[in-house]
Amino acid sequence: MPGTMLIGYDVERIPGRVPGEKWVGQPVPENATDLFLDRVLKIHREVGVPATIFILGCKVERHLAQLEACLASGLFEIAQHTHDHFPLKTVLEESPDNVYLPGLPFDRIEEQLARPVELLRKHLGIHCRGITAPYSYYRGLGDRPDILQLVARHGMSYVRSYGRNSHDYFPLGWEVQPFRYARQGFPDLLEIPMQGWIDAQWRRAHGWQNWPVYHKYLKTQVDRVAVGGWCWSHCQHDWTSVFYDEPLAWTQKLLEYAAKRLTLLTHYSYYQQIAKAAE
Ligand SMILES: [Zn+2]
Repeated sequence: MPGTMLIGYDVERIPGRVPGEKWVGQPVPENATDLFLDRVLKIHREVGVPATIFILGCKVERHLAQLEACLASGLFEIAQHTHDHFPLKTVLEESPDNVYLPGLPFDRIEEQLARPVELLRKHLGIHCRGITAPYSYYRGLGDRPDILQLVARHGMSYVRSYGRNSHDYFPLGWEVQPFRYARQGFPDLLEIPMQGWIDAQWRRAHGWQNWPVYHKYLKTQVDRVAVGGWCWSHCQHDWTSVFYDEPLAWTQKLLEYAAKRLTLLTHYSYYQQIAKAAE
């Protein structure tokens, strides 16, 4: 079985809040989302491969024209990254930083999931099929059936929430492959994990300008996926993608490398493919 790569771009730049510039260690362009959305459409058109844009609900109305252009290309799925980018679950890293991020109280979670669904429907006429959970977690949402219930109730088919290992840190191993939340009572809800290092964490540790070495790392990931026949959901962000590479030239190189070796799909096309195979 050939390997599969699902690219998910988390579109989330909120100047003053996301990403935390103290954590990044330097200023990030305030207009990262605008720069990113223009360029990402161009490079995906050039290479002819699909991807999913996971956008914060609070940013949908400001970037409608660019989102419409992405949709019109037929190459992009648009799904959500919650409304305001608060953690849905507590993050408790065992890492050099020992990051601790308390999860949002349960009574505030539903609106974080519901508002983007409504905004994407109202402004773009699309059914939001999935969600990337801010920060990602160990075990995804497997220990939070209360949140899974909300995801299902608002019409979503997949969750991309499992991105951390048992230290609530990175990298997540390849053995964690897409699975259904059947035990929790949601057999139609698919988890699509993000294995390896999240781009921001890797690049912060190795130097934000160090694209050549990061690219090398990504190529080894592609090679592993090809050999193992794995499904890999790769995460990049609007702001990481344009950080020290406004033209997205390095991202384009990755697309070109991956397109020759793997099957590239949007997250929802992958969901549909799995559902069809199960029939
Ligand atoms: Zn995020």
